[in-house]
Amino acid sequence: MINLVLFGKPGAGKGTQAAFLKEQYQLVHISTGDVFRYNIKNATPLGKLAQSYMDKGDLVPDQVTIDMLEAEVEKNPAANGFIFDGFPRTDAQAQSLDDFLAKKEMAVSGTIALEADDDELVARLLKRGETSGRPDDQDETKIRNRFDEYNQKTAPLREYYLAQGKFHSVNGIGSIDEITARLKAVIDGL
Ligand code: AMP
Repeated sequence: MINLVLFGKPGAGKGTQAAFLKEQYQLVHISTGDVFRYNIKNATPLGKLAQSYMDKGDLVPDQVTIDMLEAEVEKNPAANGFIFDGFPRTDAQAQSLDDFLAKKEMAVSGTIALEADDDELVARLLKRGETSGRPDDQDETKIRNRFDEYNQKTAPLREYYLAQGKFHSVNGIGSIDEITARLKAVIDGL
């Protein structure tokens, strides 16, 4: 069983790469951002709660996100493994993911961060915002706030996973195929 965590700032290509990797390794892809957006679209109580945070580019509170992630995993009891895209994003989320997986006799196999510089990412996100309709992709202030959230709360997880020997990073600049090949090289070495 392979359980992967994809790290990377907004726009780094986590979703794009997860779509290839899930086919290649037959994994279930869980994007917490996608699940929140699905709930917003369907006006569920979870969607209403998450929307105010997401629209500003702030993180949704931990317990809400953790409960949602666990429910998504529970929906897939026969999975070969998971790609966690956009989760964990905080220390509390990382701890709870380890505890939750351990109870199921599972574990994170490895984490991979897609690295790209902020200016490149802002340009990608503003372009994506033209077609995605995502309010958090259409305004540079919100985008920069999402980077701040990442730097303050998510980037420190590097140390958390390094201490477990589970942190890897790849250059996220290049063609989609090149980046997929870099990720596969890491995954095949796990
Ligand atoms: P993403 O699609 O991964 O860029 O996520 C979009 C937004 O959803 C983020 O800016 C947060 O508001 C929210 N979100 C997604 N995943 C998480 C998470 N693990 N913890 C807290 N908020 C999250």
